[in-house]
Parts: sequence; C-alpha cells; structure tokens
Amino acid sequence: MTDKSQPAGILKEVWQKALQELKNTIPAPTFESFLKTSYPLSMAGSTVTLAVSNLMATDVIENKYSTTINKTFSDCLGSNVTVKCEYVEPPKKEEETKPVKTTRSRKAKKPEAFENISRPLNNSYTFNNFIVGDSNRFAYACCISVTTAPMETYNPLFIYGGSGLGKTHLMCAIGHYVEEKFPDKRVVYVSGENFTYHYVKSLREHKIDEFRRSYRNIDVFLVDDIQFIVGKEHTEEEFFHTFNSIFDEGKQIVLTSDKAPGELKLSPRMVSRFEKGIVTSVAPPNLETRMAILEGKAKAENMNLSPEVILYIAGIATENVRQLEGALVKLHVYTSINPGEEVTVDVAKELLSDYLKVRNEPLNMDINLVVNTVAEVLSVSPEDIMGKERSKSIAEARHISMYLIRNLMELSFQTIGKAFGGKDHSTVVHACEKIEEIQKTDRDVQIKINNIRNKINEYATEGK
Ligand code: ADP
Ligand code: MG
Repeated sequence: MTDKSQPAGILKEVWQKALQELKNTIPAPTFESFLKTSYPLSMAGSTVTLAVSNLMATDVIENKYSTTINKTFSDCLGSNVTVKCEYVEPPKKEEETKPVKTTRSRKAKKPEAFENISRPLNNSYTFNNFIVGDSNRFAYACCISVTTAPMETYNPLFIYGGSGLGKTHLMCAIGHYVEEKFPDKRVVYVSGENFTYHYVKSLREHKIDEFRRSYRNIDVFLVDDIQFIVGKEHTEEEFFHTFNSIFDEGKQIVLTSDKAPGELKLSPRMVSRFEKGIVTSVAPPNLETRMAILEGKAKAENMNLSPEVILYIAGIATENVRQLEGALVKLHVYTSINPGEEVTVDVAKELLSDYLKVRNEPLNMDINLVVNTVAEVLSVSPEDIMGKERSKSIAEARHISMYLIRNLMELSFQTIGKAFGGKDHSTVVHACEKIEEIQKTDRDVQIKINNIRNKINEYATEGK
C-alpha cells in the first residue's frame, strides 16, 4: 500500500504521458526548465499537486500555460483536473520520476539520425498487459503476426479506431517486442505530428536531404496518428515517398489513425497504399472486457477492489480505456490517502461522481440521432427502421439501432421497446443479443457498427 508521500504510480504514469504530449506543444526551453522533471505528489478532488524543482515553475505552470497543461493532463486522465505546484528540492542523483528503463542491452544502437526522429516507446505498453476482448481481438492478432514475422505477413498494418482504445498501446507493444526479439532490427516510432514537425523544420532549415536520409534503413516503421498529416499537402507528399521507399525495401510499416483509410481525406493513391496490407479496427470494449481491463490494472497497482466495485466502474466508464484508467487513478489516490479503508460501491460512487456527469453529458444524443445515423450509413430510411417492415436489411438496421441505443444511451430495454412502437422488452433484448453475437464472428459487421458508433459520437459532439 502506498502512503501520502508516495502518489499512485498510475498517476505518475498518466503525468508522464501528458508530458510526452506537452513536449510537442510547450516551447522546448520552457518545457526543459520547468516541466520535464515535475511529477505528481498528490490528488485531492480535482486538484493535482505537482512537485517542481524550479521556483519559477509555479508561475509558468499555474498561470502562463495553465490552460494547455490542465487540458492535456485532463485528457490523458479522462477526468477534469487542475494542476497546482509545490516546490520540492531537486534530488541529488537521477530522479525517480523518469520512466523506468527496461533492460534492453541487446538492442541495436540507432544511428544518431534515428535518435532525432524516433520517439521513445512507452515502456508500460506491452503485449503482456494488453487485455484482449471482442473489441480488439483481430487487431491484436494482426499485431502478433507482424511481430513474429515482420515484413512477411501483413504489410502495411493499419489500425484505426476512436481515442483511448489501445492503438498506441498495440503499436508500442510491437516496437518493444521486435526490439527484444530482433535486436538488430531498427524500429522507428513517430507520430503524424512529429513527422510533420520534422519535415517542416527541415524545409525551413534547408536540411531536407538530411531529413530523408534519417528515414533510410528502417526495418520497422511505426507511425501513430497518421490522420495528422491529412490536409497538409506537402507533408502528405513527403510521407508518400517515405512510405514507398521503406515499403519497397520490403520493410514493415504499421500505421494508426482515428479513421479507416477510406475515410481519411487523403489522396486516393495514399489510401490505396494503406489498404494494400491489412486494415483492422479497435472498438470500445464491452462490459466484460472493461471489467478484465480494470482487474488487470488494479492488480498491477496492488489495488484490492471488490467485484462489485469493478462492475460499478465498468458500468459507468463506458467510452474508452482511458476513462477506466482515470477512474482507477481516483480510487488509487483515495486508498493511498486512506490506507486500510475499503473502497465500497458507495465510496466509488462518491469519488467518481464526475464520471456520472460525463455519462449524462453527451446528451446531444437521442434516439432519433442514433436511428438517423444508422439509416444514413446503411442506406435505409429512418421511417422503415421505426416501422414494422421485416425485410432482412431493414430488420438488421432496426436491431443495430436498438443495440446502439442501449449501448450509447443505456436506456432500459422497456423504454427502447416503447420508442419502437410499443415493442415488448424481450424483443429488444433479443435484438441486442443477436447483434452482440454477430459481432463476435463477423468482423465486417463489427467494423460497420464501429463506424456508425463513431459517426453518432461525432454528430452528438457537433450537436447535429
Ligand atoms: P489510443 O492510442 O487508441 O488513443 P492508447 O493506446 O493510448 O489509446 O490507450 C489509452 C490507455 O488505455 C493506455 O494507457 C493503454 O495502456 C490503455 N489500454 C487501451 N486498451 C487496453 C487494453 N485492451 N488492455 C489494457 N490497457 C489498455
Ligand atoms: Mg494513440
């Protein structure tokens, strides 16, 4: 059990993640001087206290960059927090805040140029701690194939899906695994954003040849969040050449994105390159998987949570894994501050009350929005979905609508039945079970439903 002076390891992990993002948005000198060595000390309510080793950091962190820092940390945590600073004298030796280095002595040393382009792989993202469920089984299997026989099976491997669903985790896991098993292979991990940034920088500094040289001799090229290059014409063009030269040498490429290749507004030739290998998606985990993820993460943090509490959290944090982690962090901080006190469902309810609010918020969402979106994607009419027609395509659209309403809005079966012209609640239960079953075996349906779900969320956020 941790005590007050030792904040939850998981909170530190999330802060490290936030720092990686902040590194790209806060000017480098500021980041290096004030943020780099900071680490979370404690969390009370929605306030996180950070230890800083520079007296001026308070002003910079709490005032000048507070909006960016609070937002980035909140996004990573899956819950709104405000950051405060406390000066702590810097340790004499290497600070314990640096991410733990795993022993990878056999790993091939990358030429200097690579150090400039490759981001460090997140050490906590491995296959070992990735929970496999229906929502990510196929993506996981593809990643395993790629790692056991890079360049031979799926190339490129394209993984897409909403935020916080494990794309970066899987990508880093591939990187770690290849570095471990094939130490002589050169793994380069960049994000679409890094690529763009380096490209623009080298253009500005007339170092484009150097830039291109640095992308040579890569064995495994991992590109996270490729959607970032969309609409950046020159960067896209440069990426196209980089991609081709690596691909033509028979080297492995893995890409992630928030959308399927065809939905990214990229040039058709780029899309067709992406689709040449295998395209797979990750969907929001179902209740069972969410529970397994929570159990795994709680165990890793030595947290003792009862099955009721696990079920309660999995029931309210439904959107993505980041949200689940945010909930755990809150409970972990509570147990750190109140050692020996049991986390009951009531305590969890109290601590996670803002999650309940989050769940009630995206209620730009209503039944019509779900039905209209299903109708739009499946090219049927909303009236038919709500009506009585029993043709296969209409019945399927109706079942998918019921399933998504249940999943996204968590209305009771009875209420949904009523909305569909007074259908019995067992009809709705049957429809939901049927769609869950089909998704287990039919990947196309899984992808189709995932696309509809993403669209609904998009529309709901836009307030369409
Ligand atoms: P994405 O890149 O899709 O936005 P990430 O890979 O960053 O999402 O995942 C968000 C967080 O959720 C990470 O901390 C990751 O470790 C965790 N996570 C996602 N999926 C799983 C999973 N299936 N098992 C365990 N942890 C997961
Ligand atoms: Mg990611």
